[in-house]
Formats: sequence, C-alpha cells, structure tokens
Amino acid sequence: MDWGLTEEETQLRNRFLRWLAANLPSRPLPEEGRDGIGYWQALRQWQRRLFEGGWAGLSWPVRYGGQGASERAEAMIFGELAAQNVPERIGVIGESLVGPTLIAEGSEEQRRFFLPRILDGSHLWCQGFTEPEAGSDLQSLTTRAERRGDGYVVEGRKIWTSYAAVADWCLLLAKTPGGEADRRSVSCFLVDMKSPGIAVRPIRRITGDRRFGELTFSGVAVPAHRVLGKPGEGWRIAMRALEHERIKLGLALYERFHATLTELIAKVKAARDSGETRALSRGYRSKIAQAYAELQVFRAHVWRVLSSRAEAPASDFQSALLKLFWSEMNQRLVQTALAVLGDRAQLETYDNGIWIHRYLRARGDTIEAGTSEIMRGLIARRALKLGADMGNDARSC
Ligand SMILES: Cc1cc2nc3c(=O)[nH]c(=O)nc-3n(C[C@H](O)[C@H](O)[C@H](O)COP(=O)(O)OP(=O)(O)OC[C@H]3O[C@@H](n4cnc5c(N)ncnc54)[C@H](O)[C@@H]3O)c2cc1C
Repeated sequence: MDWGLTEEETQLRNRFLRWLAANLPSRPLPEEGRDGIGYWQALRQWQRRLFEGGWAGLSWPVRYGGQGASERAEAMIFGELAAQNVPERIGVIGESLVGPTLIAEGSEEQRRFFLPRILDGSHLWCQGFTEPEAGSDLQSLTTRAERRGDGYVVEGRKIWTSYAAVADWCLLLAKTPGGEADRRSVSCFLVDMKSPGIAVRPIRRITGDRRFGELTFSGVAVPAHRVLGKPGEGWRIAMRALEHERIKLGLALYERFHATLTELIAKVKAARDSGETRALSRGYRSKIAQAYAELQVFRAHVWRVLSSRAEAPASDFQSALLKLFWSEMNQRLVQTALAVLGDRAQLETYDNGIWIHRYLRARGDTIEAGTSEIMRGLIARRALKLGADMGNDARSC
C-alpha cells in the first residue's frame, strides 16, 4: 500500500521489513491450528521477539517500554505484519485495548507494572465485559464487587471472553454497590486470573478453536489498588476502552483485507490461465471490482482517522463508523471469495481451510466490540443527532 509515507516513515518501514526477514518464525508454529499450549508459548515468544526488536508498543511512551512513534507509523507496521502473513499477535487485547486505557486512566504504579509486561508478552489480557444477560445492554451487568476491608470481593459471570483460557489478567467491569444505582455504580478492575475463585469454561467457536470462555467469579478477592481509575468511574473507562478497541483493530486491518483480495485475484487469474472460465464470469468480476472499490474507501477512511487523531482524540462516532464499515465490508469480501472460488472453498482441505476459516471468522466481526446495530445507533445519536429515543444503544453511551 502506498501510504504517502514521509521519508522517515519509509525508512522505518524498510528497517522493519529487514528485521522481519531475519526474525520471522518458521511456520507452522508448534500446535498451530490446534491452539495447544505449545502454540500459545510460541506466540508469547513471538511477542517477546517483536518487543526486543523494538516493534511492540510503537506509539506508547518510551518510559513505559514503548517507542514513542506516531500512530501512523504504528498502523503502517501493523499493516506490514498483516500483509506478511506473520503469526498473530497474542497481545492484541493488551496492546490495543488495555494498554491505551491504562496509559489514559491508570495510576503511575499500574502503568509501570503492567505496560512493559503487556509489550513483552509476559501478561496476556482478556476483557471481562459481556455477561449472559448483558451484551449490547452492558448496563444490565450483574457481576458485583463488594467492598471488604482493604479490597473488593467479586461474584458473577462473564461470557464470550476471548483468550479466557490463556489470559493472565482480566479487565473486569463490575457493579460496586454503595454508589448510586446507575452507571456511576460500575467500576473497572485489573484482576489477576490466578486469583482463587475464578473458573474458566472454554467455549468452542464456529471456527473450531476454543478461544472463547465463560468466566465464573466466586468470592474473588481484588486489592483496592487494582481498581482502574476511581471507584464508580468504570462506565466511562469501559466506553473509552471500547473506542480504543474499535479504532486500533480497524487501523491494522486494511492490509489484511488487501492481502485476502490479492490472493483471491491471483487465484482467479491462475484459474483463467488454466482454462477455467467460471471464476471470470461477468457477475464475479464485478463483485471483485466492488470489493476493491470498498477497500479503497476503507483505506481513505483509515487515513482520515489517523490524520485527525494526530490532532485530537477520535470521537466515539468516528470509531463506530470505522468499526461498522470494516466489519460489514469484510463479510462481503469473504462472501465474494467463497462465491468466486466455488463449493471447494468450503473444504478444510482446500488451501488448508483458509477460505472457510476467513468466512466463518468474519461472522463475529459485526458482533464483537459492539454490534452493527449498536454502531448505527451510536452514529444516529452522536453524528446525526437523531436522539436517544431511537434505540437504547447502551454499550455505546
Ligand atoms: C468474536 C467475538 C469476540 C468477543 N470477545 C469478547 C471479549 O473478549 N470480551 C467481552 O466482554 N465480550 C466479547 N464478545 C462479546 C460481544 O461484545 C457481545 O457478543 C456483543 O456486545 C453483543 O452482545 P450479545 O451477544 O449479548 O447480543 P445482544 O446484545 O443480546 O444482541 C442480540 C441482537 O440484538 C441486537 N440489539 C441489541 N440491543 C439493540 C439495540 N439497542 N438496538 C438495536 N439492536 C439491538 C444486537 O445488535 C444483536 O443483533 C465477543 C464477541 C465475539 C463475536
């Protein structure tokens, strides 16, 4: 992708690509595709290697282990990582969601303790927001943290928690009774997943892996210095964390989607060269062209958000626009891919199952980090001033 890079950014990218060529782990990683312990260990090592090479936390302050670079530079490096088909970044929740929230809201002790450990892969994080009866309507959460002595005791359940089984820490949202019975009675906690009383039940996803989990908290003690921000500020902090998640995830995705489309086009051309005409029928050609056009719009949008964020934080509806657009665009892209490649693309044996995996994984895109309906509600209220009475978009308030 031509990002219109400055001379300095071009040099950074070239330095990164040289580093990558020398440091890329050989694939497959141990137990890759089966999500065993060996796989997670290999991903931690890969995260550590990125950190030691100076390629983790690029936009984070130097005093917390980051590199102090711009978000543009960070997005460019994320993009290169996605384009080179490197192993996934295991610290994605820590780096994209928890870290930026700690930088903005954490105490100095919390920042110094957690941030370097996120970057070097020693702490993996999960996000404990959603509950069986509280997803979009996060305000209905029932997990409670009661004040006892010099800490809190947590009781409750969380569900659809990504990385639950491997996480070391959890960013937990819980009611802290005693305050007023509204959003102000919610607090955010940094919870050690090894604390007695936490049980994790893995949940199999449609893609076959067990990255989801259900968490049960039974009498879990959390020290008072592990509250993030002030008690009662949890709602505001959680909304901020979700904005980081929507933006940071989105910014890194252009290259990944671009790589998918490039692979698809290469396969279509190869099919044409071997005499197969089906994939090049007029209908499919125009779907591929449409996917390309959407990708260019997405790219321009990413660029705009990056440029405006250099001056001021993105507004919540900007992050919603980005999330809504990339998640629905990716679903259209993988649907096009499956249609163009034909039924064989649904097989695990075809291209190692990558096309069906992309298709199935994309189903979650429009649900995670706030559903498309919630994003539209947020855009309607915040950007178009269409009023809260048009729907209760609680996860985005
Ligand atoms: C891949 C993936 C990863 C995830 N990872 C995590 C994680 O790590 N941590 C975590 O806490 N959660 C995680 N989640 C959960 C996710 O945040 C929730 O699934 C999501 O917020 C929706 O909540 P819900 O599933 O309870 O659906 P519901 O809120 O019950 O929604 C059901 C349907 O109703 C619609 N709806 C609900 N309210 C409104 C409204 N006001 N206006 C219009 N339509 C509405 C929704 O859009 C949806 O279509 C993940 C989900 C996925 C798919």
